Amino acid sequence: MALKFNCNNCNEEIITNYAKVGDAIICKKCRQGMNVPENAITIKEKSDKEILIQKRHNTIRVLVRFGNFIGWFLIITIVFIPVGLLLLFMGHMVLANLETEHNTRETATLLRELIEKKNT
Ligand SMILES: [Zn+2]
Repeated sequence: MALKFNCNNCNEEIITNYAKVGDAIICKKCRQGMNVPENAITIKEKSDKEILIQKRHNTIRVLVRFGNFIGWFLIITIVFIPVGLLLLFMGHMVLANLETEHNTRETATLLRELIEKKNT
């Protein structure tokens, strides 16, 4: 069990794991000496095991977040790159097709002109 109270000089929250009510302590913030007051609240102190578990949870949380990021990155890469390439390919095919049509029409016009010249 730990005791929690506020510094009577700077009002900083002080938590002491070892001192009892009436013991002399020094505020870590303002260095004011005082005794642990009777109205100090008894709180459950965190054991080393609890601190370790919390640290592990934090590590797992970071790993999960990183995993999510990698997952989304892979999904976006796998989905969007092939779609992008497909669109590029389709666009290229459409343009090539238009070009061929245009060339064919031009050739036909030239041939028609040649034939007309020959006939006259
Ligand atoms: Zn203080």
